[in-house]
Amino acid sequence: MTATVEGFLKTGEEYRGSLRDEREVWYRGERVADVTTHHATADAIDLYADLYDQQRAPETAEVLTYAREDGRQVSTCWLVPRTKADLARKRAFTEHVAWHTCGLMGRQPDIIAWTQIGLLAVLPTFRKHSSELAENLARYTTEAQEGNIHLAGVIIEPQGGRARSAMAGEDRAGVLQVVKETREGIVVRGARAVGSYAPQANELLVGGIYFPHVRPDESFWAAIPVNAPGLRLICRETTAAGEGASYDHPLASRGEESDAFVVFHDVLVPWDRVWSLRAPQLHDPALFAQVSRGEHWCGLTRLCVKAEIFAGVAQTLAEVLGLTTIPAIRDAVGKISQYAAILRAGALAAEELASPTEGDVLLPDVVTVRAMRAYALDTYPEIVHALQELCGQGLVMRFSERDFDNPTLAQDLEYYLEHNGVTARQKNLLLNFVWDLTTSAHAGRSALFENVNGLPAYLLRQLLYLEHEPDRQRFKRRVAGIIGLE
Ligand SMILES: Cc1cc2nc3c(=O)[nH]c(=O)nc-3n(C[C@H](O)[C@H](O)[C@H](O)COP(=O)(O)OP(=O)(O)OC[C@H]3O[C@@H](n4cnc5c(N)ncnc54)[C@H](O)[C@@H]3O)c2cc1C
Repeated sequence: MTATVEGFLKTGEEYRGSLRDEREVWYRGERVADVTTHHATADAIDLYADLYDQQRAPETAEVLTYAREDGRQVSTCWLVPRTKADLARKRAFTEHVAWHTCGLMGRQPDIIAWTQIGLLAVLPTFRKHSSELAENLARYTTEAQEGNIHLAGVIIEPQGGRARSAMAGEDRAGVLQVVKETREGIVVRGARAVGSYAPQANELLVGGIYFPHVRPDESFWAAIPVNAPGLRLICRETTAAGEGASYDHPLASRGEESDAFVVFHDVLVPWDRVWSLRAPQLHDPALFAQVSRGEHWCGLTRLCVKAEIFAGVAQTLAEVLGLTTIPAIRDAVGKISQYAAILRAGALAAEELASPTEGDVLLPDVVTVRAMRAYALDTYPEIVHALQELCGQGLVMRFSERDFDNPTLAQDLEYYLEHNGVTARQKNLLLNFVWDLTTSAHAGRSALFENVNGLPAYLLRQLLYLEHEPDRQRFKRRVAGIIGLE
């Protein structure tokens, strides 16, 4: 990793350049020659590149970067939080990126940095179980900060034959594992299910959460450059609409994070990129519940911004369609406001109740984050439905820019669809935006992501049952005291 000018901040162009390498990325059966120009990956790379450039822009530098103790400027996404002020800084970063991407990038650039920081937060446990390699974890975190690295992550197994999964039994051939150790490093073989934005990233954080099933050779945490020989990324079909479609698809035309299936064909991982080996305990979901506190809070904060975007859209729709005085509409808009206000309260409460980890990293409160995420996921479909309903016919009866560019058609469209001084063309643009936000394939992928990427609501509640138990016991004793129950 190379340090860049004036501290450690890449420009957008340097970030693009860092992706033009030998990475093996496949899209619809063809090898992608250059992810920075390919239609499935390039537009999102441009969005990320804007964020890199914004690190130096006077109006955004304050949020996106901070001065380290040595005075060098680095990305806030790699700030290791020790105080509440640090957490507030990190929240501001997440919110800025969420507004920039309209909340549709589920794994925005700070989320896997949060996972890496979460691993650092349990460094003493890594030292205990993997003493020879654990220091690499701390060293890499600083290196990633100084390299202004865009880090993706993969921890979940592919959805193949369950008999060949880590949790199944004797057939271990398909399980991601170390097949060789050399002087240079470990050689790994196997696959991981989904690497969101992996084709658009510099490196991949690789691990797993399959303790107690995982065997020693299948236990490692490491970071692997996306261009490592033998690493193959197979992308799903994109839902992005492509450049030039900014009127017809105001959101989908801005690109999207890719999702790639990741195959490791005997990939050499240098020792300095490995932070644990043959330590199955470090793959315990209970440990990951601690590790992922920041990551899930980051996701919650992004959902909070998305809810605020929904609220802003609801207000605009009610005004443009002339519906603001109707009680039923106020109820629908009020429901969206309620959603946004509750998520905001939850994100702030998790920050306020933050506690330090064994590695002295301050992480948001796990119970609050779980409860809020479960609420957010349960309620999300209702909110999307409310927004769709507010649009009435308009969400379906949308027209293309070319229709409005045709004077014959534009005359009809403007005469019948103009509303409250808002031209039909402008109103249609708003509805195109709502389509991309709530109903298109782009919105569908985003909604699926919300529900599946970090445990669905019913699994969050299973964890909440365990994690909230000490509080419930406390409440139980008070209740018993009130009624004199022994
Ligand atoms: C858009 C998207 C992006 C993603 N990005 C990433 C990423 O960047 N990195 C990464 O590592 N992963 C990523 N994931 C993977 C994600 O974490 C998993 O999809 C998720 O953990 C569910 O695992 P699975 O898909 O293997 O479900 P499966 O194990 O195949 O299960 C299918 C369904 O059954 C449920 N289920 C399975 N076992 C049980 C059980 N014992 N009890 C109750 N219910 C059960 C699951 O919750 C799920 O609803 C992404 C997924 C999506 C959809």
